[in-house]
Amino acid sequence: MADTQFSLELTDDQAELRKWLHEFAAEVIRPAAHEWDEREETPWPVIQEAAKVGIYSLDFMAQQWFDDTGLGMVIAQEELFWGDAGIGLALMGTGLAAAAVSANGTNEQMGEFIPAMYGTPDDVKLGAFCSSEPDAGSDVGAMKTRAVYDEAKDEWVLNGTKTWATNGGIADWHVIVATVDPELGTRGQVSFVVPPEFKGKGLTQGQKFKKHGIRASHTAEVVIDNLRLPSKFLLGGKEKLDDRLNRAREGLKTGRSQPSMATFERTRPTVGAQAVGIARAAYEVALDYAKTRVQFGRPIIENQGIAFKLADMKTRIDASRLLVWRAAWMARQGKSFDAAEGSQCKLFAGETAVWVTEQAIQILGGNGYTREYPVERMHRDAKIYTIFEGTSEIQRLVIARAISGTYIR
Ligand SMILES: Cc1cc2nc3c(=O)[nH]c(=O)nc-3n(C[C@H](O)[C@H](O)[C@H](O)COP(=O)(O)OP(=O)(O)OC[C@H]3O[C@@H](n4cnc5c(N)ncnc54)[C@H](O)[C@@H]3O)c2cc1C
Repeated sequence: MADTQFSLELTDDQAELRKWLHEFAAEVIRPAAHEWDEREETPWPVIQEAAKVGIYSLDFMAQQWFDDTGLGMVIAQEELFWGDAGIGLALMGTGLAAAAVSANGTNEQMGEFIPAMYGTPDDVKLGAFCSSEPDAGSDVGAMKTRAVYDEAKDEWVLNGTKTWATNGGIADWHVIVATVDPELGTRGQVSFVVPPEFKGKGLTQGQKFKKHGIRASHTAEVVIDNLRLPSKFLLGGKEKLDDRLNRAREGLKTGRSQPSMATFERTRPTVGAQAVGIARAAYEVALDYAKTRVQFGRPIIENQGIAFKLADMKTRIDASRLLVWRAAWMARQGKSFDAAEGSQCKLFAGETAVWVTEQAIQILGGNGYTREYPVERMHRDAKIYTIFEGTSEIQRLVIARAISGTYIR
C-alpha cells in the first residue's frame, strides 16, 4: 500500500492529467451532450474517440487507481463529468464491472477478464455490473437470482432477473451477483463473470428504461434463464467460496463484506467526484449568465440575492471535493473508514449536485428551464446521485451505524 502524505497541491502529472481531460471534456464530450441526451442512446462515437486517445482503456483506469495519492481517479472523474454525466457514465459503466472483478476475483481472473472488458481502440467492448433486482435494491440481501452448482459438469446454473443495470444487455461482459444459499442472506452471495459468448444463450436484455436523466447511459433489465457457466467464471473460485460458506454456516464472521458492498466501497469516492463535476459545470454556467444577464439596468449578479446563491454554490462544491479527496486518499493509503468517510463524500457530493443544479436553473430563470441551456439537463442528471450506488438514506444509515456502533434501522 502506498505511503504518501496528504497534500492538496497537485503533482505535475495530476495537473497535466486534469488539463488533458478538461480539453477532451470541453471539445468532445460537452458538444455532444445535448444530442445524446435527446437520443437516449449510448454515444458510441464518443466512446470510440475516448478509446482512440486512451481515455476509455484499462491502462488509463489502472494509472488513475494506482496513483499513490489516490487522487488520480477522482480528478479524472470530475473533469469527464464536468463535460457531461450521461456520456461520462457511458464511459465509466465498464469500470463498475471491472471493479467487481478486482474486488472479488483471483489475480488470474483479473488478468484475463478486465482487459477483455475494455477491448481495444479498434474493437471497443463494454462491461455491466448487475446486482440490483426488482425486489432487491437497497436491500441487497433480498436478492433472488440463484446459482446452483452442477457437480457432474463442473458448471453453475444461474436463473433470475436483474434490473437497472448500466450497459445491461448491450455490454459484452456482464458481472452477475447471485445467491448460492438464500438462508445466509448477503453472506451466501457470489459474483460471476459472463463472457460475450453467453449472450442469447441464457443471458438476454429485458426492458430498456426511459429515464429522467443520464439518458446517454443505457440502463436495462438483464434476464438470466438457465445460464450454464463453467466454474472458471465464478469470481474468487469454488474453494474459497466453500470455505466462506462453511464459516458463515458455522455462524462465524467471514471477515469480509458481501460482493456488492465490496464493489460499492471501492467506487464511492469515484461516484462523489462525478457529482462534483456536474455541480461545478452548472455553477460555471450560472456564474457566467449572472454576469451578463441584465435586469433593472444592471447585471443580475450585482444583486446579493443572486451573488450569495453563487457564493453558497461554490462553497458547497469545494466542500464536496474535499470530502471526496479525503476518502480517495484514505482508500489508497489503506486507512479504515471508521466514520464511513466513503459514504460521507458520496452523500454530500450527491445532494450538493442536486441543490447546486437547481440553484443554477433559478439563476437562469426561464432560460434555465428550457433545453436551450444545459442546466436543466444537469439537474436531471444530478438526481441519480442521491439514488444509485446507495441512496442518500442508505449512506446516512451506513454513517450513523459507523459513528454510533449501533445497529440503526
Ligand atoms: C440509472 C440507474 C443506474 C443504475 N445502475 C446500476 C448498475 O449498474 N448495477 C446495479 O446493480 N444497480 C444499478 N442501479 C440500481 C440502484 O443501485 C438502485 O436503484 C438503488 O440501490 C436503490 O434501490 P431501489 O431503486 O430498489 O430503491 P429502494 O431500495 O426500493 O428504496 C426506495 C426508497 O426507500 C428508501 N429506503 C430503503 N430502505 C431504507 C432504510 N432501511 N432506511 C431508510 N430508507 C430506506 C430508499 O433510500 C429510497 O428512498 C441503477 C439505478 C438507476 C436508476
